[in-house]
Amino acid sequence: MVSRVIPVETFDLVIFGGTGDLARRKILPGLFRRFRSGQMPVGSRIIGAARSEMDTAAYRSMIAEAVAEFGGDEKNDTKSLDAFVAALDYVAIDAKGDGGWVELAGLVRSDVVQAFYFSVAPSLFGDLAERLHTHKIANAQSRIVVEKPFGRDLETARALNKTLAAHFDESQIYRIDHYLGKETVQNLMAVRFGNMLFEPLWNNHYVDHIQITVAETVGVGGRGGYYDKSGAMRDMVQNHLMQLLCLIAMEPPNQYGPDEVRDEKLKVIRALQPVAPHHIVRGQYDAGPDGPSYREDAENPRSFTESFIAMKCEIANWRWAGVPFYLRTGKRMKARSSEITVYFKDLGHTIFEGDVARHRNILSIRLQPNEGMDLQVTIKEPGPGGMRLIDVPLDMTFADALGPDAEEVPDAYERLIMDVIRGNQTLFMRGDEVEAAWGWTDPLINGWEARNDVPKHYEAGSAGPEDALAMLHRDGRKWRELKA
Ligand code: NAP
Repeated sequence: MVSRVIPVETFDLVIFGGTGDLARRKILPGLFRRFRSGQMPVGSRIIGAARSEMDTAAYRSMIAEAVAEFGGDEKNDTKSLDAFVAALDYVAIDAKGDGGWVELAGLVRSDVVQAFYFSVAPSLFGDLAERLHTHKIANAQSRIVVEKPFGRDLETARALNKTLAAHFDESQIYRIDHYLGKETVQNLMAVRFGNMLFEPLWNNHYVDHIQITVAETVGVGGRGGYYDKSGAMRDMVQNHLMQLLCLIAMEPPNQYGPDEVRDEKLKVIRALQPVAPHHIVRGQYDAGPDGPSYREDAENPRSFTESFIAMKCEIANWRWAGVPFYLRTGKRMKARSSEITVYFKDLGHTIFEGDVARHRNILSIRLQPNEGMDLQVTIKEPGPGGMRLIDVPLDMTFADALGPDAEEVPDAYERLIMDVIRGNQTLFMRGDEVEAAWGWTDPLINGWEARNDVPKHYEAGSAGPEDALAMLHRDGRKWRELKA
């Protein structure tokens, strides 16, 4: 197989929070994969920075262990792993103090691409941004990468944007939503804008409704304290589901460029209508055979935070007026599944016997598991017995369609970090997008808080509360089945 990996420019990447969970579980194992694929040029350096005192040798061992624990099969390539960790440095630094900054200034080069990954609590973003300037480490070309959560409402998101803007231009700020780094999400744009087949049908004349589901089987145990202050709306809908909604609903940008794509996404958010309370179902999981209840996991017996949410949304524009977008996401559900499903309309008239509404085209785009898509089409059932119709999926699971090439598909974090080094912001959220998203979710959250809305119970391992099923039944529709 011919490798299509194009090396990026030589870089210095500083990971603040380089000893933390995200760095060890995602960022560094991902960078190792890019290193192994040949994308990280010789001479590039990764500098871990956190308060813990340790030397570079200890940091290298820590990261080798992290790759062994969280990496894929590539972790067995010990020769490459040794070479990778040799490109790591470590500086003990305090975001809020002065220790370590002079040393960091001595390590970061000004003649290569500089990227600073803020993999720390958002409360430290301002301190880091300020010190990168006072110590003259960052320059006008440096890039900073910031993690979710980007605020907890419009006010805090605005404050965070303002803090970062005091030191960095918007073109230097990369707000990560790792959903945008997924192969299928980009493929969604390729399918929409690279084929003649779909775009002419992508509107309220031909689409009946669209469902977006992000279901998880895990509960909130382990991070219950954090989650209980957030809930599914802030943790999942405001960012990940909204981003998916934008990509599926946006108008074609005139080119695949950062501002062109983000301008179109922003227009979708602005066209989102307020959601009436009876079009929102919030839920909390009960204890099940596999684990405790949400309230036990969250260690808050009186919690009203939702671990599940389902909503019926409307986009008020010419393309989508009248087409419901049903969103749902939850913890401790029946199956782990992230999927966008486009239900096309009925034919209206059939020349065949039987119910005209029985057969319809359904395009489903799977983010996980088994990234890929399938299109349900109606064909004649093979064999004798007259003209009987059946629905079959035209399946394009990437692992099957691409064979060994599929193994080369980078995971979301690796791809996004390489985009930072390339200076490509297309798959990152712009400040105004994040603010617009909070501007839409804030009144909904404030509404249920003011009403003291009590989340509905749902059985762990189920498809969510009955009310969520009923919401679609009332519209004569049903949720796509969650398959384990
Ligand atoms: P974590 O495990 O608690 O790690 C935090 C890191 O920050 C540690 O390396 C810590 O090291 C360092 N740190 C804390 N205070 C510091 C200070 N004053 N100066 C310098 N370094 C400091 O957190 P995490 O899970 O990796 O999350 C990091 C960020 O990513 C958070 O914003 C989180 O919301 C976001 N995020 C995480 C995940 C995930 O899967 N973990 C997913 C999405 C987003 P020392 O204690 O040694 O200083």
